[in-house]
Amino acid sequence: MWYNGLLDLTPLQLVLVMLGMTHVTIISVTLYLHRHSAHNSLDLHPALAHFFRFWLWLTTSIVTKEWTAIHRKHHATCETENDPHSPVVKGLKKVVLEGAELYAEAATPETLERYGQRTPQDWVERNVYTGHKNLGIVLMAIINLALFGVHGIWIWAVQMMWIPVWAAGIVNGIGHYFGYRNFECADNARNIVPWALFIGGEELHNNHHTYPNSSKLSRRWYEVDIGWGYIRMFQLFGLAKPKGYRPIAHSVPGKQEMDVETVQAIANNRFAIMRQYRKRVMEPVLRQQKTLLEEEIKPRYRKVRMLLSREVTLIQPTEKEQLESVLETNPVLRQIYEKSHELQAIWRRRGVKPQEKLQALMDWCRDAEASGIRYLEEFSAHLKSYALRPA
Ligand SMILES: [Zn+2]
Ligand SMILES: [Zn+2]
Repeated sequence: MWYNGLLDLTPLQLVLVMLGMTHVTIISVTLYLHRHSAHNSLDLHPALAHFFRFWLWLTTSIVTKEWTAIHRKHHATCETENDPHSPVVKGLKKVVLEGAELYAEAATPETLERYGQRTPQDWVERNVYTGHKNLGIVLMAIINLALFGVHGIWIWAVQMMWIPVWAAGIVNGIGHYFGYRNFECADNARNIVPWALFIGGEELHNNHHTYPNSSKLSRRWYEVDIGWGYIRMFQLFGLAKPKGYRPIAHSVPGKQEMDVETVQAIANNRFAIMRQYRKRVMEPVLRQQKTLLEEEIKPRYRKVRMLLSREVTLIQPTEKEQLESVLETNPVLRQIYEKSHELQAIWRRRGVKPQEKLQALMDWCRDAEASGIRYLEEFSAHLKSYALRPA
């Protein structure tokens, strides 16, 4: 039929083509805009980088410099008044429904100047991709009409909605609101689902905010980052090269001597260390103490378990009261809670000499070993085993 366009596809084929094209757009955002341009965690072959840039111009009218600058600003000012799209500050509804509008508002000359460094400035960028940023989507509409006939109209509409809904709405909104936290990074970022297949791996947003310079977004054995799969595939053809993706710290079995490098290794790996502290100290101690907790506190047990390891700046005033009331009745819990903050203070202090940090860590371990809490003693031994290089 003439109105079905040059390809004359069946409805099923049309849906598959639409899903394929939007998938390419998602991969362009996560690999090119996010991991390569904004975070510089991934090198891309110039031909592949340009293909992504061209495809984004055709399907989204996103300008690399604008997206990069706004995203870097998001990391630099996360969950503050200056964050371009924080659901904690602006409300979830606004970020989910008006994600694209927030980007447009945030693209001020000051933001582009301050955060938009190291983005394409070539002739085609100036004269086509930036200079005529909406020409691409017009061209896409014409291509769709030619290939798919009248169906090109809804396919185009879906393409136009895809990034505003999935990236600007779901990742920026839900990814800072609902989901699980592997690591207590200083903002409210969450992993939406462990199998990040649909939004290119961006579902693993807590992992990403914890390790923003890693080109791999999955961290636990059961997590899947589809974007990382593509990076490995492109790497086989010499088209991509990940820069950093592993924390540079190793646990050397039997090592008990501490030196400046131990402190450095622990600081490099601080988020994983605090996760281990939760698993190896807080949870077993809390299970032990559960029987001792007063009856009235027991219903709040789950909440307290979460609050004990929650990043301090994310605890609400009422939650703080709840936590305090439990810690007051149980000195052992208070002790492991305070020890966790003392440990974090060692790497959080600025302008301290490495030797002083080492001394602070040695003091921490000595106190832990003298605490009489078995889990704390074992954790001290675990800390000492860290090194910058494998055995
Ligand atoms: Zn974020
Ligand atoms: Zn990022």
